Amino acid sequence: MKTDTPLAEIAEVLRTRQRFAIMSHVRPDGDALGCTIAMALCLRQLGKDVVAWNEEGVLEKFHYLPGHEIVTQPPAEPQEVEVAIVLDTSVQDRIGRCLPAVKHADVWINIDHHVTNPRFGDLVHIDPSAPATGQILYELFRGCDLPLTYEMADNLYVAISTDTGSFQYSGTTARTYEIAAELIRAGVNVADLSRKMYENYPRRRLELLRALLNTLRFTSADRCASIALTQAVAAQLGALPEDNEGLIDHIRAIQGVQVAAFFEELPEGKVRLSLRSKDERFNASALCAQFGGGGHPLAAGARINGALAEVQEKVLSAIDHAITGN
Ligand code: 5GP
Ligand code: MN
Repeated sequence: MKTDTPLAEIAEVLRTRQRFAIMSHVRPDGDALGCTIAMALCLRQLGKDVVAWNEEGVLEKFHYLPGHEIVTQPPAEPQEVEVAIVLDTSVQDRIGRCLPAVKHADVWINIDHHVTNPRFGDLVHIDPSAPATGQILYELFRGCDLPLTYEMADNLYVAISTDTGSFQYSGTTARTYEIAAELIRAGVNVADLSRKMYENYPRRRLELLRALLNTLRFTSADRCASIALTQAVAAQLGALPEDNEGLIDHIRAIQGVQVAAFFEELPEGKVRLSLRSKDERFNASALCAQFGGGGHPLAAGARINGALAEVQEKVLSAIDHAITGN
């Protein structure tokens, strides 16, 4: 298996090469976009030619990220670069249309924190002990004397805050708080940024939550809670795909619930499964792997072929099997 490339060696590539493309996963979250932007800003500080892509560009809800204008959708015409950097992406195909947009890269760098990452790329640095890829980037920038501007600090803070559930999830360590403190010293305004992250949802998102709670189901002797979203309900509410991110947290927070599942009907006969666990004995990533997905032990996902009801039954029964052994 490919061993980790030390961050110092990755920093050397950033310093010595000139043309870079940076990318992250589809349905980007704060860690994916925060890392993409922070890396792009760092390389621009070094005077490099940088493109930064995400399959969806930057969704409106992330427009508070300073420097977000750097990120575009991948171009239709493939581009040659010296270095392609993939961040926070558990499997290569999750960069979506960014992959065919790279005609050639001399070096592919893969920096991530998913334990299931198959270590694709030429230079790989995977640290599953980091609760966010943003934490690894902080160690890279600070540890290797690379630029770390106020705008980069904001992006890294968002990456870490969102992926740790506001410094609550199990990967959060003293080091995470130390890094947060350093980012605050570098200029992050915690209250202002937190309001932008957590207190600025469109009303649509709450209307969606109201509809989703009507679908709430308890299975596995009430230890599993699940909700489902049909395309019809999403269309009726005018809900955008990004509106549902994080709504699963409401049902995970129920007393006695160990596992929370969210089923989203997608076009083309597919269902997106989002799975959360708050019990170390239930491995969400392993459950999702049964359906071709992956992720972290306590937060994972998959895209599954089939009709909504059929996928729901299959997944809930697999969860039941994992929880109760039946
Ligand atoms: P979410 O439920 O927020 O979409 O994703 C939770 C975690 O699972 C993320 O770390 C994400 O990378 C991973 N994940 C989500 N969907 C998929 C998928 O279809 N395949 C794989 N391999 N990982 C996924
Ligand atoms: Mn992440």
